[in-house]
Amino acid sequence: MDIPRRWYNIAADLPEPLPPLVDPPERDGRISLLASILPSRLIEDEYRLDRWVLIPHEVLEAYRKLGRPTPLARARGMEKQLGVDGRVRIYYKYEGVLPTGSHKLNTAIAQAYYASLDGASEVVTETGAGQWGLAVATAASLFSLKTTVFMTASSYERKAARRTLMAALGARVVPSPSRETRSGLEAIRAAGEGHPGSLGLAIAEAVEYTLADEHRRYLPGSVLEAVLMHQTVIGLEAEEQLAEEGVEPDVLVACVGGGSNFGGFTYPFLGARLRGEAYRKLRFVAAESSAAPKLTRGEYRYDGLDSSLMLPMAKMYTLGKDYVPPATHSAGLRYHGAAASLSLLKRMGYIEAVALPEDEVLAAARRFARSEGIIPAPESAHAVLAAELEARRLASRGGGVVVFNLSGHGLLDYEAMM
Ligand SMILES: *Cc1c(COP(=O)(O)O)cnc(C)c1O
Repeated sequence: MDIPRRWYNIAADLPEPLPPLVDPPERDGRISLLASILPSRLIEDEYRLDRWVLIPHEVLEAYRKLGRPTPLARARGMEKQLGVDGRVRIYYKYEGVLPTGSHKLNTAIAQAYYASLDGASEVVTETGAGQWGLAVATAASLFSLKTTVFMTASSYERKAARRTLMAALGARVVPSPSRETRSGLEAIRAAGEGHPGSLGLAIAEAVEYTLADEHRRYLPGSVLEAVLMHQTVIGLEAEEQLAEEGVEPDVLVACVGGGSNFGGFTYPFLGARLRGEAYRKLRFVAAESSAAPKLTRGEYRYDGLDSSLMLPMAKMYTLGKDYVPPATHSAGLRYHGAAASLSLLKRMGYIEAVALPEDEVLAAARRFARSEGIIPAPESAHAVLAAELEARRLASRGGGVVVFNLSGHGLLDYEAMM
């Protein structure tokens, strides 16, 4: 099997037009700010309405070099362990084989390439646990770009492994709050040294730092429609791999932080369903963390993409831009909102959601490790647990096929697994 040549854009098939990004009341200029910080081709992707978008040659080459297509595997050990073998077939698409260990590289490569098209010399972003920062640092190396990553101070201390890997790739990793930006200085002045930092603050610092030099571009890791579209290589490959196996899924499962691996995995299937072409009975299950349960407990309304309203507002399921989730091992699922298209499709009943507590999720991660030989990322383990629940449900109704996206491995998150 080869890599798909095109990304799929669900905007072409949505039953209702997507509510657009807007400026916050009394804080205009946020939309136009995007034009000065994002790679220009990323903005084009964000507003596209065409269904299929050719993947640039340079991006395809990088996908191939870094290990795409990723495998789709039958989880026979998991089926046995659950006692559903013979009735339920479970498959997983595995993004952890990519060199940074998660799906985030799929969009990082596209975005770094886009930044190079603009003649940029440096890419800038924020990171929590470091998955996104590591993906950006890797992609930037491929396109000869410098990288600056604002990493929340608490993770900078605790997630030393990913910080060191980013540095090895040549990235400059700055603990946030820093003294390099006004937002950082203000936060330090208000709270004193020892501020743990927050993703919202790190975003504000990254945006401010990007604005200070026209040769810098800011790269967003999730939530934007363009990012979900880049991730559709996952679902497009999975669709072909399932067809090769001669399998029709009954349920698709993926975890949700901002929605990029969920959208990337499910949208090609969901699109065919929306067009009335296939998958009439297929269900789509989003597994979120009960520490950040936006889809199950949030409100559907316009809210800030970041806590300081540096960026525009999106209409989405949200817990409020100032929501501070309790500490968990699943840093990648702590975001307060979910992508606009995912939120709309949830609102319209096409997508179901389930919020899962971390202790049960980590227990499922250990079961998966011991039956399939792969230690899942704590984020991805939410999909493992939700897939177990769906498999049991199907088994009690005569059988079926569950396919889930295993968004990454947990080899750098081992402290969560003990
Ligand atoms: C970041 C991350 C997520 C959550 O982000 P989405 O944008 O919702 O996909 C999930 N799994 C892993 C391994 C991650 O690194």
